[in-house]
Amino acid sequence: MNHFFNFIIKYNNEIQLLLFIGLIFFSWNVENALGIITNYKKWKHASKNVGFIFINLPGQFILGLLIIKTIHWTGVNHFGLLYYFKIHNSILLFVCSFIMLDFGEYIYHIIMHKVKRLWMMHAVHHSDEVVDVSTTLREHPLENIVRLTFTLFWVLLSGTAFWALILRQIIQVFTTVFAHINYRLSDKTAKIIGLIFITPNLHQVHHHYMQPYTNSNYGDVLSIWDRIFGTFQEMPAEKIVSGVDVYMQKKDIGNFKSILKIPFGKYRISGGKQDKITTMPNHDEPTLFEKKLSV
Ligand SMILES: [Zn+2]
Ligand SMILES: [Zn+2]
Repeated sequence: MNHFFNFIIKYNNEIQLLLFIGLIFFSWNVENALGIITNYKKWKHASKNVGFIFINLPGQFILGLLIIKTIHWTGVNHFGLLYYFKIHNSILLFVCSFIMLDFGEYIYHIIMHKVKRLWMMHAVHHSDEVVDVSTTLREHPLENIVRLTFTLFWVLLSGTAFWALILRQIIQVFTTVFAHINYRLSDKTAKIIGLIFITPNLHQVHHHYMQPYTNSNYGDVLSIWDRIFGTFQEMPAEKIVSGVDVYMQKKDIGNFKSILKIPFGKYRISGGKQDKITTMPNHDEPTLFEKKLSV
């Protein structure tokens, strides 16, 4: 078992990178063969989202180092809940870390939806008109910093081990890519897997532009939090319109630069409070959703 942990610790960056590339490649091909949305320019769409990899690198690097330093500190000082409850057994430690960190991601996601300034950052992810595997990459650098700072806080609070965090991240890479894939599981399979885990069927409901769907299915890896706290929603795939019910015009999400400006936009972003489509008074062109819905 120790060899396994050492291997994960030693090659964690390589494992995550290879896994990520492999999963994107696999999902890309699954979408080409079985994708449910086909009438869009896949390469052009992906090229906008790929830019986020590069722009997020400095934040990832700096906060990644801080997280490693924090784990080292909690290890030396025996700080955090896992140390407090004297959980040393590897399997138990991993299960507890996993549940704590996943619950942390659930809370983080709700906060990103409820606090207006944070929602404007998170709206970058939600503003994608077609959710496919490349949407996984679509995260504003400011949100990236906020998210990793939250992770740092949860790592400090939990006192988790480095290998447990890496192992959880590896599982998270799988589920995040899986959640965004432009493909749906059959109803029966989705029901069974969705009892515990977030499926593409569930996460894509979260990308629907109307309430209460936008503010539902916040779960990261596990769907149990949504079931426990009443934020669970289901919706047939053909009814889902991805995006946000904001005063956005095509020019606001037309290119990479304009997407980056979303958190600083002077237009109000509702945070998804309305239960119907929001349109700006006297707007000069129909919103994206009016266009979509009139087709
Ligand atoms: Zn969200
Ligand atoms: Zn998403």
